[in-house]
Amino acid sequence: MAPKRYNGFMMFVSEWKEKNPAGRTMTLAEAVTKCGEIWKNMDAQQRGPYISMAKDAGVAKKCTKSRLNCHGQSLSALEREEAEAAERELNMKRATERIVLAGKERHDLENTKFIFAAFNYFTKSITNDIYIPAEFSACQFSLKSGICSMYSSHIDPGQLIFGQGSDTMHHTNNTHQLPLPPNAMGESDIGRLYANIVEYLRTCNPDAKPNDPLVVFATPEMIPTVKGCFRYLESDSEEPLATIHTYDIQYLLYVLKLEVMDSVDIRNVTVNRAATDNLFVNDYFCYHLGISCQYHEDIDRCKYCTQSMVSRWSYVFSDFLCGDLAITPLPGKHMPPKQQPRFHVSNPHNESANSSRTASNFSKTTNKSSGKVSNATFTSGQSLVKHEIFDHSAFSADLNAPEDFPSLGGRKSKPNRNPMGKHLAPGDPRRAWNVPASNCSAKDLEDSFKMPPC
Ligand SMILES: [Zn+2]
Repeated sequence: MAPKRYNGFMMFVSEWKEKNPAGRTMTLAEAVTKCGEIWKNMDAQQRGPYISMAKDAGVAKKCTKSRLNCHGQSLSALEREEAEAAERELNMKRATERIVLAGKERHDLENTKFIFAAFNYFTKSITNDIYIPAEFSACQFSLKSGICSMYSSHIDPGQLIFGQGSDTMHHTNNTHQLPLPPNAMGESDIGRLYANIVEYLRTCNPDAKPNDPLVVFATPEMIPTVKGCFRYLESDSEEPLATIHTYDIQYLLYVLKLEVMDSVDIRNVTVNRAATDNLFVNDYFCYHLGISCQYHEDIDRCKYCTQSMVSRWSYVFSDFLCGDLAITPLPGKHMPPKQQPRFHVSNPHNESANSSRTASNFSKTTNKSSGKVSNATFTSGQSLVKHEIFDHSAFSADLNAPEDFPSLGGRKSKPNRNPMGKHLAPGDPRRAWNVPASNCSAKDLEDSFKMPPC
């Protein structure tokens, strides 16, 4: 519909209709015909007020119309959304601080319990923020006991969103690699799963009243997934069994660190958000084995397993905070359980010629590489002991070997034809920095920082 335009004549018509008793009973078309005759006989001075009234009305309309951005979205609506998001963030921070401070006031910060939760999803709907879950894990954590309990389940949602098969496959293959429905594993009764999860979260919070909201923590990247998956689970039951708030775990670590340091009187160390956030980005425990579910352990996708995620978050907390409170870390609770060696030892003297040939090939391969794989063969007393590594993530290759990387064509590294500092006189101390450190005397290195004599 074209926007309504105001003109002087129509202003006159509406005023005439209002002021004349006969006009009030007329239709607009009749009034326009009648007023047309009057308008014709009016001079410019008489028409003037109506024309200026029309202009004013047009300007007023423009002012009330909201401004849009280049995507056609109302700026005022966007501003309102931003303000709401900022308020939610502030509320989340205040609630996190309240939880930590409550523990501090009880002088029981080390026994304050937190629940960490993570979801893997198959796909998410485009129109509303609902995620179709694939795997859920939650753990209860306290600084004193580490991981107190764990709830973990694969989820079979039955069906996915129609028309999003490609996106689903892409996301799944790049992350958790759980089989898609109808081959999905785990709990298929979503209502029961939701009830179980709520019950687990309630048992983790025995002090909470029945109507109190339940609080779980997740990383900022995980929060939309956790909220979206809970929304999906809720949608399957008639009424939500509980209000579940998902808060930022990185902020929790920051606040907890500050309060822990304050409670044990450590004042000479400054902590900032960037440093604590980095602990999650670096993810030191990412490649530890034995902390994810059996399925992900078997397909070597531990990084994406939710069980591994919540465990790793707990280990980050323990690693960063237990030292301040002099809590002895326990394997499996505060840090990954002891690693089992992923190899078996066999004596090649007892094996057939065929296998000893394999052993010699094996040692040749490993000798090419450097670092941790090279210790796979070693001589123990009289016999050569062979370690067969089953870890497929272990990788050994020589970048200059054409058979390993045919596309490189056996490229050789070129000698540096013009080393820096060549133009300098042989005795010039500035040459020293370019010499490999092993060929330098300590005096050379020291001299290289001095200016040459003039
Ligand atoms: Zn898993």
